[in-house]
Amino acid sequence: MKFNSELDSIRTYEAGKPIELVVREYGIKPQDIIKLASNENPYGCSPKVQEAVKSIADKMSLYPDDSMYKLKEGLSRRFGVAENEIIIGAGSDQVIEFALHAKANSKSKVLINSITFAMYEIYARHVGAEVIRTNSRAHDLDEFYKLYLEHKPSVIFLCTPNNPTGESIDAASVKEFIAKIDSDTLVIVDGAYMEYAHYRDADKALTPKELIDEFENVLYLGTFSKAYGLGGMRIGYGIASHEIISALYKLRPPFNITTLSLEAACVALEDEEFVQSSIAKSFEEMDRQCYSRNHRKTV
Ligand SMILES: *Cc1c(COP(=O)(O)O)cnc(C)c1O
Repeated sequence: MKFNSELDSIRTYEAGKPIELVVREYGIKPQDIIKLASNENPYGCSPKVQEAVKSIADKMSLYPDDSMYKLKEGLSRRFGVAENEIIIGAGSDQVIEFALHAKANSKSKVLINSITFAMYEIYARHVGAEVIRTNSRAHDLDEFYKLYLEHKPSVIFLCTPNNPTGESIDAASVKEFIAKIDSDTLVIVDGAYMEYAHYRDADKALTPKELIDEFENVLYLGTFSKAYGLGGMRIGYGIASHEIISALYKLRPPFNITTLSLEAACVALEDEEFVQSSIAKSFEEMDRQCYSRNHRKTV
């Protein structure tokens, strides 16, 4: 059978192996395995989330609230943006997919960093768009700007802090950069790890509100999969001008978020203490790892 030619250049995304599979394949005990492949949170999610999800187990026969009112209200309060400036996705991954389907096609280009989150390229290829990559390892916004002038991409991705390198871009430079981009180019700021930047380094911390108040062409992405420890619930969000959100909404399948995931995200958002302590522990471990690496003997 012949399929759409766009598929020819797409490699199937290889997800990190689940622990059960490593146990089966290598005969290693589960307690001896440390899973790093998908950047999941080793401290899990708030115990309050687990309780809340259990308590609504009887709601499974009904479709979820498709207006997602409660979570939008929570995010709106948290970020100081309007509810109609928010879209919820089955992971922020799904919002990336909506954005590329809304804004790119086989005649357009998508500009991304040399090393960055794999799904930008995969979703760009779904719609046949050409992917342009920078050369620099870390985001070099001068190089981004040069490539923007040369290629006139319809979508630009900035991933900060970046997956998989952990590097983050100076917040002021991000804004200076976006100010130079024409308003018909969609700039996607992927803040999947932004909670960590807010904790660690104010110069690298961006908020969706400051971005969308200043720029009509920015889509900010956030997720519950990392700092909130809810990777298994598949829930993330996009924040942008009402105009952008309305366009993305046309691509959203009905009931794209389960009742359990919506409840989990609402409760997770309210337990900020848990999230902050989980972030703090991650940095303690990171500092410990860096210390031992710097003191390791090299032969
Ligand atoms: C994990 C991740 C996402 C998406 O996560 P979801 O689980 O789909 O919400 C998006 N961008 C980056 C950079 C990530 O690391």
